[in-house]
Amino acid sequence: MLIPKKIYDLFIFKSTHDLCHKVLSEYNTYYIHLSLSCQKKFRLKTLYFLSNIDFDSDRNFKVEKSMKILISSAFAQITFGLQKSKLDVFKLINVTPAPYSYLHSDLLFNGDTNFATKTINLCWPVVKTGFEISDDALNLAIHEFGHAIMLEDSRKNLIFGKALNKKVFDTWKHFAIIKLEKIRAKKNVVLRDYGGTNIMELFSVCLEAFFENSDQFYEKETDLYNSMVKLLKQDPRNKETPLS
Ligand SMILES: [Zn+2]
Repeated sequence: MLIPKKIYDLFIFKSTHDLCHKVLSEYNTYYIHLSLSCQKKFRLKTLYFLSNIDFDSDRNFKVEKSMKILISSAFAQITFGLQKSKLDVFKLINVTPAPYSYLHSDLLFNGDTNFATKTINLCWPVVKTGFEISDDALNLAIHEFGHAIMLEDSRKNLIFGKALNKKVFDTWKHFAIIKLEKIRAKKNVVLRDYGGTNIMELFSVCLEAFFENSDQFYEKETDLYNSMVKLLKQDPRNKETPLS
C-alpha cells in the first residue's frame, strides 16, 4: 500500500526515527549541520524514500537498515527543497560489496544507473567513503541519484510531474554548456574534469560539488552555482537552513 507522504510520519516507529538520526548524525555532514526542525523533515524524506524502493544484493552480502538509510539520505539531500520524494521508474537499488563488472567485460564499476533494468547499482564501500569524506566533491550515491532524477525527467513529456522545473533547468543547461566547453578547453578551475564527458555527467558532478564544495563552486562558477540553487530550491551554504 502506498501511504501518502503527508501522513507517512504517523506510521514511522520512534525506534526507526532514532536509528535514522543515529546513522545520519554519524555519516551525513549535511544532516549534522541542519537545524532540529530541518533534521526532522530530512529524516522523514529519507525514510519515505526508503519505504518506496527495494534494495537487493549478492546472496552473501546483507544490506543493513543503516546502509539503506545512508543511501536514501543522498536522495533526500538532492530533493530536500523539491516536491519529488521517490523515484517513479527506478524500483531497485542493488548494493554490491565491491566494484563489479558486466558480463563479457573487464571494466569495473563503482556504480551505474541502468535505465534498461530500472536499477541503480552502488558499491557499498565507495558509497560509505563518499559520505565519510564530505569535502572532496565525490559522493557516489549523490552522483547516481542525479542520473536517475535527470533520466526520469527526460522521459516525462508533461511539464507537470517533472522533479526539476523545465524553465529553470534550461537556464542551468545554458550555463552548463558554457562550463562543458571550458572543461574541454582545459580551462576548468572547479568541478571534476569528468563532468566534461557530457551534460548528464556534468549534472551529477555539479551536484557533488554543490553539496561538498559549495563555497568554491560559488566563488569560481557563480552563475552555474546560482542556477543550481534555483533548480534545487536550496543553498547548501546556509548549512542550518538550506531551504531559506
Ligand atoms: Zn555518472
